[in-house]
Amino acid sequence: MAFKINSKIKGYSVVDEDDDKAVLDRASEAEPARIDVVQMHESLERPETLVGSTYKIKSPLFEHALYVTINDIVLNEGTIYEQRRPFEIFINSKNMDHFQWIVALTRILSAVFRKGGDVTFLVEEMKAVFDPRGGYFKAGGIYMPSIVAEIGGVIERHMKTIGLIQDPELDASTLALIAEKRAAYEAAMRAAPVPPASGDTAANESEASGFPPGATLCAKCNTQALVLLDGCQTCLNCGYSKCG
Ligand SMILES: [Zn+2]
Repeated sequence: MAFKINSKIKGYSVVDEDDDKAVLDRASEAEPARIDVVQMHESLERPETLVGSTYKIKSPLFEHALYVTINDIVLNEGTIYEQRRPFEIFINSKNMDHFQWIVALTRILSAVFRKGGDVTFLVEEMKAVFDPRGGYFKAGGIYMPSIVAEIGGVIERHMKTIGLIQDPELDASTLALIAEKRAAYEAAMRAAPVPPASGDTAANESEASGFPPGATLCAKCNTQALVLLDGCQTCLNCGYSKCG
């Protein structure tokens, strides 16, 4: 440890080895007691009570709504190492057609949650699953390739809420660029309005999603927000542009 001496030195004595050790011992005593950090592990016992959230999924592929419940365990509560992690997942529905694979999926997901380590990879794996019968559009113009992908989306939302996934916010310059492109597109539309292709439905759809009618699906953010601007496909949601 270094000290800056600001006053005059009036005397000194040489420290021998034993004194040095004594100083070190005192320093280690002063250190706060080490905390035993609990990590997520499969042998971790389930507490009697867990906190959680339930999300509702309504899909045109399912007659009845799905209710997804994710319960969390709080590790190292009250310390600087406090962490909330998903511990188990349940999915309930009136619909029994898909009962067996839903039970299998939730049991495996819960087992992976309890194994510990990084479990955020599950989100990407699930969101990449597509239904060969075709997906569907959600409110906001977001394309869902399958019901599994939508369950993955719910897990992602939950992990963002508990702070396990950091949301990469669009930076200010990208947001400004999107706003600029959108204004340019809307100005061009006013100058030469294109009649909606299928009457009222198209207009209603665009109102629900907040993107212009006739916008197509963006491959980058899976949102129906791609418009033709100056001869170039441009996404009004994430800023993606085919021309770079
Ligand atoms: Zn996009």
